[in-house]
Amino acid sequence: MANTIALFDLPALARVRIMLPLPMGDGYDYAVPEGMELAPGDFVDVPLGPRQVRGVVWIDAADDKVPDSKLKPIAHRLPVPGLSHDVMRFVDWVAHYTLFPRGSVLRMVMRAGQALDPVKGQTGFIRADQPASKLTAKRQAVVDAATDTPLRASDLAKRAQVSDAVVRSAAKAGLLTPVRIDPDPPFAPLNPSLPGRPLSTDQQDAAQTLVDHVNAGTYGTTVIDGVTGSGKTEVYLEAIAAALAADPTAQVCVLLPEIALTLPFLKRLEDRFGAPAAHWHSDVAAKGRRRVWKRVADGSARLVVGARSALFLPYKNLRMIVVDEEHEGAYKQHDGVLYQARDMAVARGALSGFPVILVSATPSLETLANVEEGRYGIVRLASRFGPATMPTTGLVDMRATPPDRGTWLSPPVVAAVNERLARQEQSLLYLNRRGYAPVTLCRKCGERMTAPHSDTWLVEHKYTGRLVCHHTGYSIPKPTHCPHCGAEDSLAPCGPGVERVAEEAMARWPDARIEVFSSDTMMGAGAAKSLLSRMTAGEIDILVATQAAAKGHNFPNLTLVAAVDADLGLAGGDLRAAERTFQTLSQVSGRAGRDEKPGAVLLQSYQPDSPVIQALAAQDRDGFAAAEMEGRAMLGFPPYGRLAAIILAGDNEPKLNEAARTLAQAVPHAEGVEIWGPAPAPLYRLRGTFRVRFLVKTTRSVSIQTVLDAWLGQVKIPASIRKTVDVDPYAFT
Ligand code: ADP
Repeated sequence: MANTIALFDLPALARVRIMLPLPMGDGYDYAVPEGMELAPGDFVDVPLGPRQVRGVVWIDAADDKVPDSKLKPIAHRLPVPGLSHDVMRFVDWVAHYTLFPRGSVLRMVMRAGQALDPVKGQTGFIRADQPASKLTAKRQAVVDAATDTPLRASDLAKRAQVSDAVVRSAAKAGLLTPVRIDPDPPFAPLNPSLPGRPLSTDQQDAAQTLVDHVNAGTYGTTVIDGVTGSGKTEVYLEAIAAALAADPTAQVCVLLPEIALTLPFLKRLEDRFGAPAAHWHSDVAAKGRRRVWKRVADGSARLVVGARSALFLPYKNLRMIVVDEEHEGAYKQHDGVLYQARDMAVARGALSGFPVILVSATPSLETLANVEEGRYGIVRLASRFGPATMPTTGLVDMRATPPDRGTWLSPPVVAAVNERLARQEQSLLYLNRRGYAPVTLCRKCGERMTAPHSDTWLVEHKYTGRLVCHHTGYSIPKPTHCPHCGAEDSLAPCGPGVERVAEEAMARWPDARIEVFSSDTMMGAGAAKSLLSRMTAGEIDILVATQAAAKGHNFPNLTLVAAVDADLGLAGGDLRAAERTFQTLSQVSGRAGRDEKPGAVLLQSYQPDSPVIQALAAQDRDGFAAAEMEGRAMLGFPPYGRLAAIILAGDNEPKLNEAARTLAQAVPHAEGVEIWGPAPAPLYRLRGTFRVRFLVKTTRSVSIQTVLDAWLGQVKIPASIRKTVDVDPYAFT
């Protein structure tokens, strides 16, 4: 009898909701074993089918859908700091906005999840307090080599030029003190009160506005809008210093496009704050990532500089984000969860109540619209810092002064380079096209070389002697015969890439020091750094470069930038084609004359009358933006409307079309919603997969997420068809 009563009185099992880093929206409930103390954010290992997986105790309450009897217990809690509520709320928000499952977003946070595993520390040795007298020569060498910084036995042995055994026996004899070496040491504390450089009046005014905002301690987005070389970085460093000083636990994140994350930039931060910042990007090795992840989670990494994924680090107390070069397309992630890091940064600030700073010389139209409508604040820097002036811009009408047949540099550009060579100044020939030639045609049969089962062109790369597909990575050695008609030596390159322009430059200026800079001629980060430092030191006369060289570099002796094909990028049905062309060319132009010598920019164009080229020549950014905005407003495109793309992809064409038809039949008809499609995506065939696309446009008063949820929720798409939703699409491929 007593037993029965006890059974009735048993409390329900304590249960919690665990979010798993898997493509699922809601996670699962698990039972909390007796004696286990858990709080939201804690990392735990839980059973999932036959496996054990790592997850996070989420902020959602558990529900009672699964009966107690079916509930599995949590295996254990990890002895590490848990995720902050802010990070969890951010994961929820990003999932809601992008329509990706919360688990997929959490996966980005846990990407360096090996940081949660225990790492074996190593033993190191430091000098003992009281060295004994009368030592053998070898032991004396060990004692002399030891310092107050712990060294591993092998390193100490190397230093003392003895064997490891001598070090160990010296330690045993008490001549060295063993200490544990932390494999992921904390970051050295920063000093936000070091003085910055003296600021110009404009810089001071801008910095003061930002610092006031930081001190107010609330959310707000402010744009630093300043011409290239105006000293925007110096201004936001003041705001960072204020944020770090305001709260000793505050963390700050600076986002940069990957290619702008350079050593000089990191050095600049280190000089300003007296210790290195944590950096986070694709070149950081696994060990470095583990350290950054861990130290961001425990709060000791207070300044993080990184590419877009740094937004998803497990900050303990993030209090400010700076998005430098905010207009950059590189902030949009194209694989996995499709998000725009700039927009998510703003959301992160709003959720956690801290300031966000967007920095650019050519702000995106989205940002300008937000300023216009009063949602974002703005500070302006109208001129370059110090004696440097903005470069002059000239147009080269390629119809009036064309290059010789088979060459790409027009007489005015050749003359301008000649002048630079005579004055021992540097020139940059800019063409945003990798490789030797963008298209390879058979002279005999007209066959255009494409990747197999794809609609993408093969690009000739002379350095490697291969034809490469820039979309799929497919490549083959350049064939000697046309694969279509069999004609020998008939494959001809059409149009220029950087390698071809460099070839022309080398033929024209055989004595000049000429180099090519593009992502695939640079083998690794080391080669790129070395080239950039040669360029900075003036050891290169002519640099032929893609936009890899456009960002954030200061080449003091560079006084000429020539855009080989300013029209490139204008073609194509992309919504942002004109905007992007304007931004990129402004950025590249901004490399010229950053020091005391004035710079010049020449734009080779076959459409010198087009509004973008005209605006560039007149350096009329605001005029360009106004005209472009008007066009977008008229059509209801972003920033005056919302856009989403849905791509269906599958190997079986009829099944794909069937799925697209089903989706089309369920298209919602609602006020403020327009849906186009299905239409073949611009790259209809890619690696043998067919792709069709819908484009959804809504007015700003409509929640595009709700529309998509309702529509897509009604239609069952077969598992063999992959459906991708891209809210705020950038690439229209
Ligand atoms: P932006 O980010 O606006 O392109 P930077 O912040 O890189 O410009 O500044 C351009 C150049 O001017 C850099 O070489 C920088 O070191 C220098 N500079 C900017 N502000 C100052 C200052 N207050 N004192 C000294 N040098 C400065």
